[in-house]
Amino acid sequence: HSAETPAPDPAAGAAVKAADRAHVFHSWSAQGLIDPLPIAGGEGSYFWDYEGNRYLDFASQLVNTNIGHQHPKVVAAIQEQAGRMCTMAPGFAVDVRAEAARLIAERTPGDLDKIFFTNGGAEAVEHAVRMARVHTGRPKILSTYRSYHGATGAAINITGDARRWPSDNGTAGVVHFFGPHAYRSHFYAETEEQECERALAHLEETIAFEGPQTVAAVVLETVVGTAGILVPPPGYLAGVREICDRHGIVFVLDEVMAGFGRTGAWFAADHFDVVPDLITFAKGVNSGYVPLGGVAISGAVAATFDQRPYPGGLTYSGHPLACASAVATINAMAEEGIVEHAAHIGENVIGPALREIAERHPSVGEVRGMGVFWALDLVKDRATREPLVPYNASGAANAPMAAFAAACKRGGVWPFVNMNRTHVVPPCTVTEAEAKEGLAVLDAALNEADAHTVDAAGA
Ligand code: PMP
Repeated sequence: HSAETPAPDPAAGAAVKAADRAHVFHSWSAQGLIDPLPIAGGEGSYFWDYEGNRYLDFASQLVNTNIGHQHPKVVAAIQEQAGRMCTMAPGFAVDVRAEAARLIAERTPGDLDKIFFTNGGAEAVEHAVRMARVHTGRPKILSTYRSYHGATGAAINITGDARRWPSDNGTAGVVHFFGPHAYRSHFYAETEEQECERALAHLEETIAFEGPQTVAAVVLETVVGTAGILVPPPGYLAGVREICDRHGIVFVLDEVMAGFGRTGAWFAADHFDVVPDLITFAKGVNSGYVPLGGVAISGAVAATFDQRPYPGGLTYSGHPLACASAVATINAMAEEGIVEHAAHIGENVIGPALREIAERHPSVGEVRGMGVFWALDLVKDRATREPLVPYNASGAANAPMAAFAAACKRGGVWPFVNMNRTHVVPPCTVTEAEAKEGLAVLDAALNEADAHTVDAAGA
């Protein structure tokens, strides 16, 4: 890493914290119980606080800084664009907007060649759902329980995991079903093949009982992200494609997290040889340097809105600063071989190291993932696969995961922890040396988790 960590300045950090606590209302938090860490800056795979502590970003913030912090080409492109044109409404043709759309369309599978830009992932999901409903004239959206699709109206309703509960109005025309998850099989499957077959039969039956003529879309994360890094078994997504085709249902793949290099491909769909009707994206498209998301749209769905207006829009759709940063990000990723690097580091460094670490830690139930998109599923007991902490645990019930996270941070690694899992999701640009440094810290921190297993209790 080239950046020098600036000299510690605890007084400046304290001032930032005081200002934050006075007026900033944070996402997903009890405002009176949180203690946000003041951050002074970042570069590449690292960021740092005002006390002189550097953290290796094994979370890529919220799994979005795929090219790391402060990539010079992207920073320069934003500065250049700001000097030229900061804002222009979506009704006008703008060079960087057209170029960003072209670069994205060039990389999407099949004929998903039209791009609707949003400000982030949830809005992309909102619009994908609306496109599917208008295109089919049907109301219902099917999605999986183990999923996250965003925190806005339709997006939080189709989200399957516990983040939905406080906002679920129960009337949004959403039906949840179980996707494949061999390690915690809902279907009592013993092999991946069986899991795939039974998961497809379950979806088919769900559609049959809902009434196929009422189902607008099936929405899936290509590889499930925050709800567990679930890589679908071979044949599953192709099977869903076939079911959707048979019933005239729009197939939406949510690649907000999985897209733009995270899995070692431009789109995760590339690994599974499947072409959906719509792809939602955000995060990695420009590593979050400026808020941006969007929907890639197939020819058939786009045709619905050729002679009649699409009923939706956003003041900042295709925002020039965001589009300029996407153009620079995609070009940098292509020029620097960043997607190939993510595939290489996953296959040759992170995956093998995690499997080796798992052998030494009784708390690791399963290792799964690809690219720079991995999870350790932590358990109390490998035999029963009982999760290390209960589903949606908080407070004292979550103490083992909190202790694990604290140990990572003391070791200089910022971890991604969700329920009973830790995800290993560094930037796609993470070097082999950085990955090894972070994995060593994770390895040691797992002793905290091991202490809560039945093996420890029996010892
Ligand atoms: N879909 C997926 C798969 C996501 O991972 C996320 C964010 N974690 C979203 C949608 C929502 O994106 P945003 O937070 O940008 O609204």
